[in-house]
Amino acid sequence: MEKVRTRFAPSPTGYLHIGGLRTALYGYLYSKSHGGDFILRIEDTDTARYVDGSVQIIYDTMRDSGIMYDEGPDVGGNYGPYVQSERKDIYTEYAKKLVELGGAYYCFCTPERIASLKDGEGNVRYDKHCLNLTKEEIQAKLDAGEPYVIRQNIPKEGVSSYHDLVYGEISVDYKDIEDGILIKSDGMPTYNFANVIDDHLMNITHVIRGNEYLSSTPKYNLMYDAFGWERPVYIHLPPIMKDATRKLSKRHGDASYEDFVNKGYVKEAIVNYIALLGWSPSTNDEKMSLTELTERFSLEGISKSSSIFDEAKMRWLSGEYIKAMTDEELVEKADKFFKMSKVYGKYDLKKIASLLKTRIEIYSEIPEKINFLEEFERYDLSLYTHKKMKTDADIARTVLPLARERIANLAEFTFDSVHDCLMQLVQDLGVKNGQVFWCVRVAISGKESTAGGVMEIAELLGKEETLRRLDYSIALLNE
Ligand code: GLU
Repeated sequence: MEKVRTRFAPSPTGYLHIGGLRTALYGYLYSKSHGGDFILRIEDTDTARYVDGSVQIIYDTMRDSGIMYDEGPDVGGNYGPYVQSERKDIYTEYAKKLVELGGAYYCFCTPERIASLKDGEGNVRYDKHCLNLTKEEIQAKLDAGEPYVIRQNIPKEGVSSYHDLVYGEISVDYKDIEDGILIKSDGMPTYNFANVIDDHLMNITHVIRGNEYLSSTPKYNLMYDAFGWERPVYIHLPPIMKDATRKLSKRHGDASYEDFVNKGYVKEAIVNYIALLGWSPSTNDEKMSLTELTERFSLEGISKSSSIFDEAKMRWLSGEYIKAMTDEELVEKADKFFKMSKVYGKYDLKKIASLLKTRIEIYSEIPEKINFLEEFERYDLSLYTHKKMKTDADIARTVLPLARERIANLAEFTFDSVHDCLMQLVQDLGVKNGQVFWCVRVAISGKESTAGGVMEIAELLGKEETLRRLDYSIALLNE
């Protein structure tokens, strides 16, 4: 069997948004699950939409997310160049061939003439005027240096059909397709031409892209047929929506991979979540690494209907990844966020990581969850009120001085010794566990929620600081 070759062909028009990354991911997964090659091609022929720096963003994002390509502008390969603006001569050569084959023709119509073709609604549809020019007339105009474009010659009637592996049979009437421009007056190809030439010359076997190309694919098939080339297999993907009616789109500034990384999402979770936007495995599994996704990816799992991007779900998944990390991993991966906290360099981060692991979903929650270790300020006494724990400031006023005394008397200050002395206090006072533990935790943290319970916090703070905070809180309660 022919080696599977898929490609991701982004246009460098800004950052790489979630929809683009999903297209890349599916191309990657499909090729890798078939032992094939995955190619990156930069489609930069639309100079008006080109955004500086966006090619670098594409390289960085793909590397960072692990969606690595075998061939591409920055890694090379046998089918280059992989940047369309460097392939101009190739397109010119093939456009001329297509003209000879009758699949395209030169058009010298002026912008004024084109504008005069506007219908009642302001739409222009080219009328094949230049198709009537003789060979000699064309040559004379070319020799005279008249500006021209090359247009595709779409049959006037008939229906074009093809089979898409996701959407099934697609048929389009030729009368609904216009003679679109293949080569622009500046000599640059349009996407409509370049994608066909490149996919063929780069030996792409499976074209995986957004479903906005579903209805223009018959135009491309006409060219494959005219050149006598084999058509690739088509796999069009359903859109990703922001909500029930709006598509997620980079033009509307919807979040990119990079934004989510900066927000503290676990990278593997972002990729994992993106894989699930339009594809599902045959089981209910949701947490899958890139390797597992590669093993399990199949076209049958791709859905025809759109999926809604649910940030809360991705956040949950990110939390699952954090839970599964070792303490060392969390410290390493969340380094940037630990640095943003006030505890960096002052505490054993591995110990803190073990407390945080089950309590956060994204790394950016880290500073707020641990800063209390370094900052302890006046807090609101209402924190002592907790219905379920049946506790409040009055109870704290009784409990805290006793807890302070017993902790102060501990010969050894450890997790266990603090635990045991507080349990003893619970028994001696005949109160509920929460009435002691909640009060002491608030008293030494000044926060409603913290990473870790009383013993963990006390251990991190050390005996001296624990007692200092208890003293402060007792005074605060008696103000
Ligand atoms: N450059 C096109 C885009 O960014 C690629 C479409 C395709 O994959 O063929 O939408």
